[in-house]
Amino acid sequence: MNELDWIRKIQSWVEAPAKGVAVGIGDDAAVLNPSEASLVLTTDSLVDGVHFDLAYSSPEDLGHKALAVNLSDIAAMGARPKYALVNLVLPPGKAENFLPGFYKGLSAEAQSAVTSIIGGNLSRCEKGLVICVTAVGEQVGAPRLRSGARPRDTIFLWGAVGHAAAGLQALQSLGLEEAKALFPTLVQAQLRPKACLSDAWLSLGVHASIDVSDGLVSELWHLARASSVGMELFPQNLDLTALQPLADESGAAALDWALYGGEDYALLFTAAAGKDEEIARALPGVRAIGRVHAGEPSVWISTEKGHQPLEARGFDHFGDTKA
Ligand SMILES: [Mg+2]
Repeated sequence: MNELDWIRKIQSWVEAPAKGVAVGIGDDAAVLNPSEASLVLTTDSLVDGVHFDLAYSSPEDLGHKALAVNLSDIAAMGARPKYALVNLVLPPGKAENFLPGFYKGLSAEAQSAVTSIIGGNLSRCEKGLVICVTAVGEQVGAPRLRSGARPRDTIFLWGAVGHAAAGLQALQSLGLEEAKALFPTLVQAQLRPKACLSDAWLSLGVHASIDVSDGLVSELWHLARASSVGMELFPQNLDLTALQPLADESGAAALDWALYGGEDYALLFTAAAGKDEEIARALPGVRAIGRVHAGEPSVWISTEKGHQPLEARGFDHFGDTKA
């Protein structure tokens, strides 16, 4: 099949474009008739050998994940995802065994997030595989920035942290089949993370927000620096239940995965103290995990010995490797 054949195939695999799409897949560009809301745009890439290993990730997993990581950024801004463009670079001969599964996963993820796939691009390379997705959302209320945290705010975490990193360790040490059988929740978090999407989230009064892609402490530092505040974390409020069995077996520290593991796509946000009950009702599973303080940007936990600072380590593509 040639490129045009594949584009026709892809067109048949994705849902018909929703309201607001004047021209979808198949022309030189997509055309939108946006509503009055501000548009929110983000883009993210998954690179073979950097973000995934085809020994563990199926094409279908990658379809889910490539869209979910973008939806997570849209959600962090307080926006509702609407559209996505998909750009794939793959070697000749790869299309047959990759594209059908990839688009199956991508379409399922798009459908569950009410997001239309409106176009993209297919290119060839010598080897490897690069998946780039661009997502467009509609802002609901004011944009939720990293710079909005205020002293005395409560810090909330919605979604699990450490699961994806622990899942990767399980895959690497046990192999796909055994890891899936023994630690299904952790492996699922690594291979098919879900973005935190809900209408209830969009209507809450939130001061600052970020999604947890590079590790909890790393994201706390982003909020601390952007908002010029101190962030006190209560580690005893983190849920380590699902991490503990693998930590016991491997001799790793569950708390380290929760603090420094990446790729979880939970939402970390701050809101005025006193909103705990309203937020707990709106977002099942949300946890109050810390407090914002006036002062120089910093992140710490309190122990009997006093403040214990937490370093800003985590995943940085152009710095240290994963902690
Ligand atoms: Mg992000």
